[in-house]
Amino acid sequence: MGNIVLLDDLTINKIAAGEVIERPANVVKELVENSIDAGASQITIEVKNGGKSLIKVVDNGKGISPDDLEISIESHATSKIRKIEDIENTYTMGFRGEALASISAVSNFTIISKVKDSIVGYKMTSSSGNILNIEEVASKTGTTMIVENLFFNTPVRYKFLKNDGTESRYIKEWVQKVALVNLDISFKLVIDKKEVFSSKGNGKIEDLIYVIYGKKIKENIINVDYNFDKYKMTGVIGNTMIAEETRKNQIIYLNKRNIKNPIIMNAVDQAFKGATGIGKHGFCIINIEMPANFYDVNVHPNKMEVRFKDEDEIYKFVYHGIKESMLNAEFLGNDDKTDKKEYVENELKFLGHEKEAKDIKPEENNIIRETKRKIEYKYLGISFKTYIVIQIDNDVYFIDQHAAHERILYEQIKNNYKANISHNTQMTLIPEVYELTHKEVEFIKENMELFTNIGFDLDFFGENSVKVNGIPDIEYRGKTKNIFFDILDEMLSTNRTIFKDIEERFIATVACKAAVKAGMDLTREEVDYLIQNLLVLNNPYTCPHGRPTAIKFNKEEMGAIGDVSV
Ligand code: ADP
Ligand code: MG
Repeated sequence: MGNIVLLDDLTINKIAAGEVIERPANVVKELVENSIDAGASQITIEVKNGGKSLIKVVDNGKGISPDDLEISIESHATSKIRKIEDIENTYTMGFRGEALASISAVSNFTIISKVKDSIVGYKMTSSSGNILNIEEVASKTGTTMIVENLFFNTPVRYKFLKNDGTESRYIKEWVQKVALVNLDISFKLVIDKKEVFSSKGNGKIEDLIYVIYGKKIKENIINVDYNFDKYKMTGVIGNTMIAEETRKNQIIYLNKRNIKNPIIMNAVDQAFKGATGIGKHGFCIINIEMPANFYDVNVHPNKMEVRFKDEDEIYKFVYHGIKESMLNAEFLGNDDKTDKKEYVENELKFLGHEKEAKDIKPEENNIIRETKRKIEYKYLGISFKTYIVIQIDNDVYFIDQHAAHERILYEQIKNNYKANISHNTQMTLIPEVYELTHKEVEFIKENMELFTNIGFDLDFFGENSVKVNGIPDIEYRGKTKNIFFDILDEMLSTNRTIFKDIEERFIATVACKAAVKAGMDLTREEVDYLIQNLLVLNNPYTCPHGRPTAIKFNKEEMGAIGDVSV
């Protein structure tokens, strides 16, 4: 006799539950998503003991009709699709019809629900997926789901749960994530009888950011609202001040569904490159909307994974959306928004994402903007030979002289470099000859093209000497020789193998070494040169390594509250 048998339904559902329902937070997720799908505008979540003894979700959605009650906890029972093709045009969170079956299989489960057209509601109780009782009850329109003693019949899974505090934290984090993208729904989370989170559902993401992340984050974000073709992106992104070493503050949603996707993450990283410190990740909470037939989320039961039909287009869209929004943030009191599409397109090409990286035209943008922007400011002085202090209206700015100059030079050098400008070299009157180590000779020989494109004119002179005929045509503060060796030092101190990285690094290093340093004295003219030139850049916010060029304090923050004239 054979050994193969067909499993009974309960066993199947218990196994299936393992895929989606690993812990209480997953139950909360599935129940809340159902409430959202039911069109609720108010959702209250109550849990006890980290969700182990109780999870209760109350919504004011459309309810479940009495005829559908029993079938709702069967597996593959859904009201949301009829056939597989429907997924291509489904915008609901659920469609697999497995959640209630899975949850009810591993708990004592109660549904109380009333639809609008009915006078009474119904209450159905079940245990291990077996219906125990259905009765009429008085109820408001909407649904209440109660999950008690989760995993009581799967002791192994119960044992894998963390302590109540940790499970509660997972739940809270998840509820906040959902609230951040469902801004028109008011959420309330009660843990062990204490309200720990609530959202107004007033549509304002800033309010929620403040509640969840606090004042500092709220003050360093800007709104994103970006459209291209059939794609749309909304949310917030942060500046360099709130970038973090981990990705914990990067949340991506696809049609309001929280997803993890390497292509999008990569585009986000690239867009933030140079705008956050090295190794840091920019703050970003964005919802990307697109037609449901552009992707497939039915890859894994938890629907966190997604496959896109056109990965390249998504990559470009995300890169543009974030970068263009970032470059429209207010700077030194100026917040007129100009079209950054072309500038960002060129940046993207430079990254090598676009194939035709060679034929990039020099940018005219900087020049156009110059006429537009001219800033009036009160010069207050320079502190610590490092920060230029200026005042514009009620704000005082500390401008980092090195970071600012570095950014200006970086943009100049990069522009010349990209455009392959032939006359970006300043020929030296008397060429200097430097002795080099073997390693240095090797590096220069290997990367001669970099040196030439950036504006160096070099000749090898014997075995290990180089003659510097010309240097990049930018404004220097420092001796050619020092700059040249500093650049070599810097480039040799890191092991980079990808040409794009070396190239980017090289440009940033030349800018860094040529720029004024902290501690150097600046004349009043040089100060004005820095400020005015910084202001006309498309990206004035940080130095190429992500350090902020300017920090702002307003009157209140500086303690000048009330009448300061006395
Ligand atoms: P899915 O969400 O994939 O359809 P579920 O097992 O989560 O599957 O839910 C089964 C069905 O029960 C849903 O399709 C829906 O018709 C109904 N349902 C579940 N929760 C609610 C709710 N809060 N309000 C109204 N209907 C609900
Ligand atoms: Mg569902």
